[in-house]
Amino acid sequence: MDDINKFRESAHQMVDWMANYLEKIEEYPVKSQVKPGEILNQLPLSAPENGEDFTAIFKDFEDIIMPGITHWQSPSFHAYFPGNSSFPSLLGEMLTSTLAAQCMIWETSPSAAELEERVLDWLKEAMKLPKDFKGVIQDTASTATLSAILTAREKVSNFQINNDGFENNGYRVYCSEETHSSIEKAVKVAGIGKSNLVKIKVDSNLCMNSNDLERAIIEDKAAGRIPVCVVASVGTTGTCAVDPLKEIAKITSSHDIWLHVDAAFAGTAMLLPECSYMIDGLEYADSYVFNPHKWMMTNFDCTAYYVKDEEALIRTFEVLPEYLKTKTRGQVNDYRDWGIPLGRRFRALKLWFVIRSFGLEGIRDKIRGHIALTEKLESDISQSVDFEVLIPRSLNLVCFRYNPTIEYSEESLNQLNHKLVEHLNSTGKIYLTHTKIAGEYAIRMVIGQTNVNAAHIDSSWNLIQETARKMAN
Ligand SMILES: *Cc1c(COP(=O)(O)O)cnc(C)c1O
Repeated sequence: MDDINKFRESAHQMVDWMANYLEKIEEYPVKSQVKPGEILNQLPLSAPENGEDFTAIFKDFEDIIMPGITHWQSPSFHAYFPGNSSFPSLLGEMLTSTLAAQCMIWETSPSAAELEERVLDWLKEAMKLPKDFKGVIQDTASTATLSAILTAREKVSNFQINNDGFENNGYRVYCSEETHSSIEKAVKVAGIGKSNLVKIKVDSNLCMNSNDLERAIIEDKAAGRIPVCVVASVGTTGTCAVDPLKEIAKITSSHDIWLHVDAAFAGTAMLLPECSYMIDGLEYADSYVFNPHKWMMTNFDCTAYYVKDEEALIRTFEVLPEYLKTKTRGQVNDYRDWGIPLGRRFRALKLWFVIRSFGLEGIRDKIRGHIALTEKLESDISQSVDFEVLIPRSLNLVCFRYNPTIEYSEESLNQLNHKLVEHLNSTGKIYLTHTKIAGEYAIRMVIGQTNVNAAHIDSSWNLIQETARKMAN
């Protein structure tokens, strides 16, 4: 295993395997069909004492591991949000793992730090994000949001909690009922406590009701509590709802509260001028996160986190043990101080490969294509007699259900649609997930895989209709 020629040979085989896999990806069941424990039971209880041959390991990868893989790069993957990828991203990732550099500070790989700064500035410019934002790559949006809440907490406590811990807690964080679970997790981890996360009601489009937000803040202040942060969503996970950012920003500005904007999925669409209204008001935000690893053809993981006051961010996370002191400090970005982990992967490389290979216009074409496919599907669904769209489509996410003309109670409609999704997923031909909209079970279909096209969507829509009608009969 340390023979370079054997490595070269296996690596060539691997590349062939990769290309074959991607070429034939539609032949695999989109959602893995294994049962709990099925993979575990095929794995030896103890690690081998002696090294094994790569051929044997690879055979087990194909026989044992592959059946337990869900194929996120299948064009019929419409579940959750996509975690799409692309050839340039994959190639970049190969180099990142080959270099295996740990890019915690500038000195441990100056290119990693400087490329990261440059590509995030590219995206800032291309997406018309506020000029005074500074970017840093994080592993996930969850980590970026936690960083935002910790920084907001430190700023509001004059950096006392980092130092002395909590003296007493009266801190409050606000988000809507539809906000992603990572906000709740961040509030728990930040020591603020889940009970101090105020979930603001949403309107009929599932967007935050900003009047309710202001009322909650005023009540909290009157009761002596301390607002720390408001999290607004640009594209919620359930329905891709967009909170009224400008109205929320007015409130956070006038009360001097940190505003964090979570655009984890929808952020990629900010490359499109026709979508930039969604971030109207972002200039008043303190931090912003979006995931190139969702819709921007960049392998998981790669999160773009932008912050206005990077001094506060750094002051929150900075540690300076003797062994990390360098003479370039202060002249360069040592990104270990810009987030939670010390160690960092070289993630900017794949992002650079993607942006350069597609060009901004190439990325725009892809996402516009996805949105157009979704628009067409939405119209097909609304024209069908026994299906209905449950909320107007947002970007490339449509929420709908089967509702045959015979009388069904709400409860049995929910069950019917739940069964429909399970049934569809068990065919291996498609993978869908669901959400609830005002108590109604809604099938979510997101069209965002890199290579998905009109023929894929037509055959998926046919499959959905046929399966549903068969079930109802
Ligand atoms: C996916 C998602 C997240 C979480 O993203 P991770 O990178 O997996 O942490 C947060 N917020 C929204 C709106 C999301 O869609």
